[in-house]
Amino acid sequence: MTEVERILEKLGKGNPFGEKVTLVAATKTRTPGEIRRAVEAGVTDIGENKVQEFCEKYGLVSGARWHFIGHLQRNKVKYLIGKTFLIHSVDSDALAEEIARRSKRAGIVTDVLLEVNIGAEKSKSGYPLSDAMGAFLRLSAAEGLRIRGFMAMLPDTKDEKTLIPLCDEMRRLYERAKALSPLVEYLSMGMSGDYELCITRGANMVRLGTAIFGERPLPHKS
Ligand SMILES: *Cc1c(COP(=O)(O)O)cnc(C)c1O
Repeated sequence: MTEVERILEKLGKGNPFGEKVTLVAATKTRTPGEIRRAVEAGVTDIGENKVQEFCEKYGLVSGARWHFIGHLQRNKVKYLIGKTFLIHSVDSDALAEEIARRSKRAGIVTDVLLEVNIGAEKSKSGYPLSDAMGAFLRLSAAEGLRIRGFMAMLPDTKDEKTLIPLCDEMRRLYERAKALSPLVEYLSMGMSGDYELCITRGANMVRLGTAIFGERPLPHKS
């Protein structure tokens, strides 16, 4: 049994809210060959966090849905339009408006998540929790764009007393939005170090890199 199969079996139980949990393989630094093997083992969704890497690999791996999960600059939106199943990282109204504008021009609708900086960390992007519902309401009317839920990256700690209240805030936000729009379906929360906890608190989409592929090689120092 491969690691992918082991993870998929675990996720197959769903979350405590009775929802299916989708595995997005975070494939940064992985070769098209490695990604193809993961797809053969059952991965259905691939997430890249850099536009250039996304575009380089996009044509080389088939049979999966492509997600963009990293920080996205407005001037690079044009390279992604029409290629993504879901953009997880909408962190400003200006970015959302650019995605909407480019999508409309291409005659398509792009599905996105709003990223929330749930730990209020300086090093992370995302809407502050206090503005997340506001952003959802402001952007829900935009043509060319559909808000399908929320994404969060938790602080890098194993301390459950820190993590659980943050997960629960995200789940509450997700449920408030879901009550307003049937399009809201995804809560993308959980990486290799914290995904099991996130699922128990109501995540229904997790983004896993090292848990699938092993440790990433460290970048070379010059
Ligand atoms: C790399 C990455 C992940 C996965 O990280 P791991 O710790 O390797 O599982 C998840 N989300 C984003 C946005 C990433 O860039």
